[in-house]
Amino acid sequence: ALAAIDLSASFGTHKVLHHVSLQMPANCVTAIIGPPGSGKSTFIRCLNRLHETVPRATMSGTVLLGDEDVYRMDAITARQKIGMVFAQPNPFPTMSIFENVAMGIQLRDGKRQTYLSEEVERALVIANLWSEVKDRLKESSSKLSAGQQQRLCIARALALQPAVLLMDEPASVLDPFSTLRIEELIDELKDRYTIVIVTHNLQQAARVADRTAFFLAGEMIEQGTTTELFTTPNDKRTEDYVTGRF
Ligand code: ATP
Ligand code: MG
Repeated sequence: ALAAIDLSASFGTHKVLHHVSLQMPANCVTAIIGPPGSGKSTFIRCLNRLHETVPRATMSGTVLLGDEDVYRMDAITARQKIGMVFAQPNPFPTMSIFENVAMGIQLRDGKRQTYLSEEVERALVIANLWSEVKDRLKESSSKLSAGQQQRLCIARALALQPAVLLMDEPASVLDPFSTLRIEELIDELKDRYTIVIVTHNLQQAARVADRTAFFLAGEMIEQGTTTELFTTPNDKRTEDYVTGRF
């Protein structure tokens, strides 16, 4: 499980996240919803310390992975344990399909990793991509469709055996069929990982998420089971958003 406790974040003097606390249980998909600019991406970047890499960005608060303080690990370890996938599929374009998945394992374990091919295969199987790429592992990743590239990025993250997978609008640029495949995959991965998905697609949140949190203007307004949040919201602002009156 992942827990954010009193997270605040700023870019320079611009405060964009205000004292957000949220529990993200294991074996559960937590959706983060909210209008553009509400701080969703900033929030999940704080969870794996990607926020630290942004110029003039600062944050305060605590992130716990199990009982470990993520900000007391080294940042590389934190980002391995808490993997991330972005809206735009971003495999390394000059690398082969195999190399994209192998690179993280090699960086972690050194070049003489004996079980490299087995681990690459395992990650591609878990990401539901193996049957489509097993005969073309040496081809450039840029030969894959956008949906396949996104599953390759998921495999690349999973190869590092993370506990958590953060996904920032992972299907927003994909066609409906590829979107469905990503949603199916999220559903399958849920048994093994803590999953957090940012989405502006409310139907998608309703389809994939067990729990949902609503963000507005840098605040977490309300969170609960997805059913509760969509059908019996406590806050008028949540109700307006989930009923499309925003
Ligand atoms: P969207 O739905 O458009 O992706 P979001 O909810 O993910 O929006 P964020 O990207 O977290 O929102 O942005 C929150 C606020 O932080 C916005 O006011 C945005 O302008 C600001 N912001 C985001 N990234 C930066 C940055 N690198 N430098 C300065 N301000 C930023
Ligand atoms: Mg965003």
